[in-house]
Amino acid sequence: MNQEERLFDIQDKIKSATLTSGRKEGDVELVAVSKTFPLEDILSFAHLGQVDFGENKVQEFVHKANEHHEMGGTPPISWHLIGHLQRNKAKELVGRVHLFHALDSLRLATALNHHLEDASQTLSCLIQVNVSGEESKFGMEPAELNQFMDSVLALPRLRVEGLMTLASPTENPEEVRPQFALLRTLSESVRDRLTFVSTPTLSMGMSSDFEVAIEEGATLVRVGSSLFGGRSYVSA
Ligand SMILES: *Cc1c(COP(=O)(O)O)cnc(C)c1O
Repeated sequence: MNQEERLFDIQDKIKSATLTSGRKEGDVELVAVSKTFPLEDILSFAHLGQVDFGENKVQEFVHKANEHHEMGGTPPISWHLIGHLQRNKAKELVGRVHLFHALDSLRLATALNHHLEDASQTLSCLIQVNVSGEESKFGMEPAELNQFMDSVLALPRLRVEGLMTLASPTENPEEVRPQFALLRTLSESVRDRLTFVSTPTLSMGMSSDFEVAIEEGATLVRVGSSLFGGRSYVSA
């Protein structure tokens, strides 16, 4: 398949899974995960109408966002930072990111709030939750979520719009269905406090498991290799 066929194929699968889960076409957003691929490849998708792109490393993201800006910023791109962020890089997000998916510590949240305050800006973000229980994964433990949410809501520059997770890597997406279901249950438990949005964002599902994630309530899926092709290094 060429690029256009791959995009249409994913859009089609998203649409079917959305309808299967009893929702309306357009209720699930596609973020094209462009990490390791050059801006040129991103722009080809942007010319096909894809607007949202996800990067997982700050430096790579800043480089591409600046390059896009210098080229005049068309076609428009909404950038998502989907990977772990070190506190000393927090400033790089200000004014550049449409949605930050990986809020995972109070120290990071406080640093972000501080830089946003200085620039009189706000930032939309999702709290990353570790639903797989793997120690290597970033994210809040489900049991810590409530308290973390209270602390973050006290930071006026952060707009918490929902939750994000990475399920365990698996060949069989059915195996991770319970992990997606858990994130959904957690989002329902904090829903009253997400006053910035009418429907909380649930960022879950990647190339191998996005259809199952949608069936379990994802409102946003992050698809990389099925659109851009295989990556030559394994990314965290
Ligand atoms: C790389 C990455 C993805 C996309 O993974 P694919 O398997 O290539 O679709 C999604 N989410 C995060 C956080 C990632 O780092």
